[in-house]
Amino acid sequence: MAATPEYQQLIFQTKKKARKESKENKAFFRKLKKKKPAGLTSSLRKFNDEAFAHINCMNCANCCRTSLAVFEKPDVKRIAKHFQMTEKEFIKKYLRPHPDYDYLIKTLPCPFLSEDNLCTIYEIRPTGCATYPPAKLRLTDEQLDVLHDNVGICPAVSEMVDKIKEKFAS
Ligand code: SF4
Ligand code: SF4
Repeated sequence: MAATPEYQQLIFQTKKKARKESKENKAFFRKLKKKKPAGLTSSLRKFNDEAFAHINCMNCANCCRTSLAVFEKPDVKRIAKHFQMTEKEFIKKYLRPHPDYDYLIKTLPCPFLSEDNLCTIYEIRPTGCATYPPAKLRLTDEQLDVLHDNVGICPAVSEMVDKIKEKFAS
């Protein structure tokens, strides 16, 4: 279930870099949310594609091991049905309520992550997982917050943020 040795190193560097640039990133995202410069959404989409052209999630799975997945009610309905469980049974076994979302997964690594770093419910995974990192969506403050929060978790987000910093810093 661990990341490959190469990706363990990449994840370690990503976390270290985010810690070092924490203040700078905080100020940058604050400014970005205020200004929302023209071209931000399209640039992030492009940088997202560039990052995932060489980053392989199956060697990484750091998000599934370290971040609590969000489950909204439609996710619960769909996934409980897949396991032939009632929603109540599914919630009891896997989830806990959260004030900002309907539910969060209870345990880490995510119980739906396989030994070979695959999502065992990939086709029906929660929408929050399917849209992570949220760099392809029309950018809202919430999505910018998610990107900011994940700069030390996801090597692809780290790379994208470097590029948007370079392009929109001034
Ligand atoms: S989305 Fe990011 S953190 Fe998750 S597996 Fe892919 S590269 Fe790793
Ligand atoms: S549901 Fe799948 S994609 Fe989402 S955190 Fe769990 S293993 Fe990862």
